Amino acid sequence: MARTHILGYPRIGAHRELKFAQEAFWRAGADAAATAESQLRQVGAGLRAAHWARQREAGLDFVTVGDFAWYDTTLSLTATLGAVPERFGFDPAQLTLAQYFALARGNAAQPAMEMTKWFDTNYHYLVPEVNERTTFDGGVDWLFDEVAEAQAQGHPVKVALLGPVSWLWLAKAHGAAEGFDRLSLLPRLVAGYRRVLTGLARLGVSWVQVDEPVLALELDAAWRAAFEPAYAELADTGVKLLLASYFESAAGHAVLAARLPVHGFHIDLVRAPQQLAAWRQVLPPDAVLSVGVIDGRNIWRTDLRKALPLLQELHDELGDRLWVAPSCSLLHVPVSLASEQRLDAEIRSWLAFASEKLDELQTLGRALNEGVVTVHAALADSDAAVAARRASRRVTHPTVQQRLQRISTDMAQRRAPFAQRIQAQQAALGLPLLPTTTIGSFPQTPEIRQARAAYKRGELSAMDYLARMRAEIEQAVREQEALDIDVLVHGEAERNDMVEYFGEQLWGYAFTEHGWVQSYGSRCVKPPILYGDVFRPEPMTVETTRYAQSLTDRPMKGMLTGPVTMLQWSFVRDDQPRETTALQLALAIREEVQDLEKAGIQVIQIDEPAFREGLPLRRSDWDAYLAWAVRAFKLAACGVADTTQIHTHMCYSEFNDILPAIAAMDADVITIETSRSAMELLDGFGAFDYPNEIGPGVYDIHSPRVPSVDAMVRLLERACEVIPAQRLWVNPDCGLKTRGWPETRAALANMVEAARTLRARLNLQQAA
Ligand code: GLN
Ligand code: ZN
Repeated sequence: MARTHILGYPRIGAHRELKFAQEAFWRAGADAAATAESQLRQVGAGLRAAHWARQREAGLDFVTVGDFAWYDTTLSLTATLGAVPERFGFDPAQLTLAQYFALARGNAAQPAMEMTKWFDTNYHYLVPEVNERTTFDGGVDWLFDEVAEAQAQGHPVKVALLGPVSWLWLAKAHGAAEGFDRLSLLPRLVAGYRRVLTGLARLGVSWVQVDEPVLALELDAAWRAAFEPAYAELADTGVKLLLASYFESAAGHAVLAARLPVHGFHIDLVRAPQQLAAWRQVLPPDAVLSVGVIDGRNIWRTDLRKALPLLQELHDELGDRLWVAPSCSLLHVPVSLASEQRLDAEIRSWLAFASEKLDELQTLGRALNEGVVTVHAALADSDAAVAARRASRRVTHPTVQQRLQRISTDMAQRRAPFAQRIQAQQAALGLPLLPTTTIGSFPQTPEIRQARAAYKRGELSAMDYLARMRAEIEQAVREQEALDIDVLVHGEAERNDMVEYFGEQLWGYAFTEHGWVQSYGSRCVKPPILYGDVFRPEPMTVETTRYAQSLTDRPMKGMLTGPVTMLQWSFVRDDQPRETTALQLALAIREEVQDLEKAGIQVIQIDEPAFREGLPLRRSDWDAYLAWAVRAFKLAACGVADTTQIHTHMCYSEFNDILPAIAAMDADVITIETSRSAMELLDGFGAFDYPNEIGPGVYDIHSPRVPSVDAMVRLLERACEVIPAQRLWVNPDCGLKTRGWPETRAALANMVEAARTLRARLNLQQAA
């Protein structure tokens, strides 16, 4: 009998119940804290019970425990091990829920633990902080309580937790002595794991899924060598270990993994089907092989008929040592299609969210164990969905396909080189030295949000909504003129989200009502679904931008989202390479760029904040990605005259390793986030000799603090040391939509003053 299981289930709830309970707890004052905590605990217990019941209903052989967390599973594991950062001064064994949240969100005394993206996903985990004093002597018992809870509900339990090598790999040194090597903690850490696993064995748990996602990376010798001693210590705790990898092929480490004293392996056959051969070769004779054949990262229905032959072959070979699963935790997809009432019926029939993926798993399990005839109807249904999607006129558009065929090299190339273009642009724009600008959005006030909500509910007419947005634009223009900013923006009042806004106007995109996915803590995102060939039926931003330009004599920037970011922040097609989808998006944006130019807009910004995020997990795959990502950007950007100035914006501070690609994008101006890293990354730009113009963010928009003129002058002075002043712009780090007007006004006034100060000084120097 083949077994079925999942690596994890989304914990937020179909209606984001966990989010609302978390936030109520955070808001509760001292007098209401106890009630809010018990309510939060109740919501959590209710979600766990419902998710386990759903897994049993789908006939899975285990329910998975350990995928729940009050904030983040990595943080919860850190709390279970007792490795709470010392700087907080908490007693790990007595950690309260409020203290747990303080680790994640900071408190009056301490900033939060660092948070960063989980591999190549949009989920964020809390980075463990370690130094030579870190101990693993035990912490909270929540995991054990949850196991007991599931058992009390009558479920067979498999526990899932992050493995020791990956935990340590993800950890960062903090307050450590010089030369501290976190691998030196391995023996102590493994002793901590040993205690946890022994405790689970005592509760009667037979299987523990130990996630080692670092197996999908290119590890150096020291990290590879960490596996053997770590797992040797965990060999006889009384539980069986299923070593799980996902997101990429782990074939390069299969020989190493097969030698470990574990009882099975999970591999991702959606992202990396080719790795199966390597694992089959090394699989020990009594080991379990769990194959991830249902996509845990995307929302499309599985082609069950296509998946079956291989599973049957493996079943014949392995018998009950074959486990079938989604490729990775279902954390990365929305909870259930059941609540989607407004989604177009045809598109809906192509989708499977977490709950529907459990049904797929059940069908596959039955087909293997009870025979294909027993799931005849489900398979026929799957066939019909797959065939319908493939044949749908909504997916393929001959016009788009033809345009794609006709892309030529010169379309992705500006006419003149930068040195020549910039002269033409300077002549056309007449900007001062160190021109000032902003990144696009201005404060999204409650009034703006209310107007949009009323419009969407049908309570505000399209004309009235348009009038409201125009009034906002006019205000933004007047504010910027009063501040004496050189290149203006319209403020993006009409945009709720920089991807959704464009997706809603393009063909090929669909939107869900409740398709929420946890991003971090209580924060969820609702990625749009890119299901078909992308086509721009009509201009998207031209009227708005033209209106904004009509209000001022200063240059108005057109503001667009770039193809890579559109791709990265959507659920995208799995029936063609990402590169093809990116090029389709690029063609649509290119048309918009050209129409803006025709409407008299001289400066156009194409935002690519997700450009770096798209990098593959393995460095050896970077060049291929960067080549098509740069090409997509250039295709969008290069259809204009030399006099039209193209800007791009990126907001992250680690670019130094992809600078050649950023330079290859050949934007006339790039604005970047730098202020939090104190201009560190400018050194990278300086050393690389970045050729075009650059606007290093001179103040952090994530904080309501108003930066002083002096502070910004100092940052600009540093910038001038590495980049000639003739090529520098002055701007904030990112868009201002999360800020209020009073602080925005004050900060921008200081920013303009800082630019003036330095400008005057440089002009004096020149005169002297
Ligand atoms: N133009 C966008 C804004 O200002 C850019 C946002 C981003 O970089 N994430 O809001
Ligand atoms: Zn940004």
